Amino acid sequence: MYQGEPTLKQADQSGPRGCNTAAALAGGRIREQFPILAITVHGKPLIYMDSAATTQKPQRVIDAVTRHFTHRCSNVHRGVHKLSQLATESYESARETVRRGIGAAESQEIIFTRGTTEAINLVAQTYGRQRFAPGDEVLITAMEHHSNIVPWQMLRDEKKIVLKVVPINDRGEIDLNDYEALLTDRTRMVAVALISNALGTVNPVKEMVKLAHARNIPVLVDGAQAVGHDVVDVQDLDCDFFALSGHKMYAPSGIGALYGRADLLNEMPPYQGGGDMIATVTFDKTVYNGIPHRFEAGTPNIVGAIGMAAAFDFLQETCFEAITAHEHDLLQYATEQVSAVPGVRLIGTARKKAAVLSFMLEGAHPHDVGTILDLDGIAVRAGHHCAQPVMDRFGVPATVRASFAVYNLRSDIDELVQGLHKVREVFCK
Ligand code: PLP
Repeated sequence: MYQGEPTLKQADQSGPRGCNTAAALAGGRIREQFPILAITVHGKPLIYMDSAATTQKPQRVIDAVTRHFTHRCSNVHRGVHKLSQLATESYESARETVRRGIGAAESQEIIFTRGTTEAINLVAQTYGRQRFAPGDEVLITAMEHHSNIVPWQMLRDEKKIVLKVVPINDRGEIDLNDYEALLTDRTRMVAVALISNALGTVNPVKEMVKLAHARNIPVLVDGAQAVGHDVVDVQDLDCDFFALSGHKMYAPSGIGALYGRADLLNEMPPYQGGGDMIATVTFDKTVYNGIPHRFEAGTPNIVGAIGMAAAFDFLQETCFEAITAHEHDLLQYATEQVSAVPGVRLIGTARKKAAVLSFMLEGAHPHDVGTILDLDGIAVRAGHHCAQPVMDRFGVPATVRASFAVYNLRSDIDELVQGLHKVREVFCK
């Protein structure tokens, strides 16, 4: 704190504090914390159901970003001047907040990245490139996002490893027996999404880790769709790596994190070379920095990290108990109401699901559905959701996907259903 900098209380007018209940979230008061929800689209109030693509941002996060640029903007780790020290303090304190937010043991196990994609690429290009030999296997599932497929394919082409895929059933679930049967003495990594963005399936990751660890196989968890919707505890999951994206948990885009077990990170070579990741440099030799900075070459996304910390604070204050109960209610209601619309086929009906509803409407292409809904201010996603193998598995080119977050209401789903009836009038007469 320095003269002129507002206190946290003055700076952050994000509304009432204290733990919520599911009933309070259902009442919609939390929406006041999201200024964008007050806008209109095509003259209609915005109804935003595309949170699996990116979440909207609460005032608290917006204020944290503004506060940083207004009062603390400076580069980190390098300056002796006051502002640089303050920026460094905010940045490193954000790392500690992320550590707490995902239950990691030490803050040095948190590496800031651009997001989940970069976190997975980092592991593939450091851990994988260093340790995998021709014939080694990486095991993923058939419901992975492209960002948990392509980095391993790139490594496959370079290192001649084998990429194996756990199949999914018609509900969009994996069978643990199939999974276990694919673990071999050549498996060097399991990489799996905790929650599928295209289907909403919640994978039994804790059991998967247990089975992999029994064979000394490390596990990377893609947590992009999980953080922000339920409690994540990497020590409880016992995973070796965990990737997350800020923008999917109410924080800015361009920031995310990789959690890695300290003993593994300490053994891994750097990902990129440049400033901050070194201890000493001469033309003959460079000695690398310790973790986490060894993996953060160049000026990082300082304000992004600060915004992400504010988002973790927002989540903690909103209360996961309330968030999960509210989103579960929305999913159940949406499943009932949307599947009652004639011609709807749900894609992804796993027994354990997060608040993602993917579906087809007979006679209308998903893009047309999305476009017509948009005219009523309803934002849903239409496409392959960066999970083309999932689309192939279900024999569809794309789906319509409605995905929910703390600010959604049952009335949003009613609007969606009315919108689908309008689409039917145009396409399904
Ligand atoms: N993994 C999953 C399950 C996702 O849903 C996404 C984004 O939709 C990603 C990875 C990639 O995240 P990002 O684009 O933030 O790196």
